[in-house]
Amino acid sequence: MRLVSYPGGFGRVEGDAVIPMGDDISEWLETSEVVEGAAVPLASLDLLAPVPRPRTIICVGRNYVAHAAERGVDPPAEPILFPKFVTSVAPAGAVVTLPRPVREPDYEAELGVVIGRRAKDVSRANALEYVAGYTCLNDLTARDLQRSGGQWTRGKAIDGFLPMGPELVTSDEVGDPHQLQIECRVNGETRQSSHTSLLIFPIDELIAFITQTVTLQPGDVIATGTPAGVGAAMDPPRFLADGDVVEVEIERVGKLETRISAPHLV
Ligand code: ZN
Repeated sequence: MRLVSYPGGFGRVEGDAVIPMGDDISEWLETSEVVEGAAVPLASLDLLAPVPRPRTIICVGRNYVAHAAERGVDPPAEPILFPKFVTSVAPAGAVVTLPRPVREPDYEAELGVVIGRRAKDVSRANALEYVAGYTCLNDLTARDLQRSGGQWTRGKAIDGFLPMGPELVTSDEVGDPHQLQIECRVNGETRQSSHTSLLIFPIDELIAFITQTVTLQPGDVIATGTPAGVGAAMDPPRFLADGDVVEVEIERVGKLETRISAPHLV
């Protein structure tokens, strides 16, 4: 199934229509029972992020060898985790307005994992059973604030800095999440082009590691890390600018478009 959320509910996409399935996608993910309803034209809906209000969002830093290298660091010995907040979430097609302190905005294409049921102390062997599905994420980052803070939260967990969607694609439809092409384009120019087989810590290992200390609940999101090609690593760096359009595209998962509004950088 390909699921979308909109004000007041969520449903599954069938062609150019949506079959409404209920009010709260996070609650529904626990049972995942197919509900029948009257179709609504997809184009008539004002889409939200597929999970509009995740309770916990955990991002993984430096999870591709080539990205660690371009940032001038060794691959980490264990996953680097940092949070984003529910206020970070933005829908597909959003215009993200940068707060005034942000001067070096950057993109990060990432495969998003959406949790389907309560996960605590999960073993790696059955970790993928806790995954409801996958979505496209853009882990937008203020490199200047990431660098200056001594930690990453101020440069990462910014309002609107986690565009998500447009769909949550269920695991059965995605197949092996470690066999997906992942790309990022800025104004049509390819900046990132990689493959999820190159994740240093694969998804089952991430879920086992995270749930050693954090309970994940239905609708929670893991951002699995970005491949090489971020703007900060270019020589000279190429940060995002007012009016830029960023596209994250992941094989079998979808295409997520975001527009940057930064009048203070013009
Ligand atoms: Zn990231």
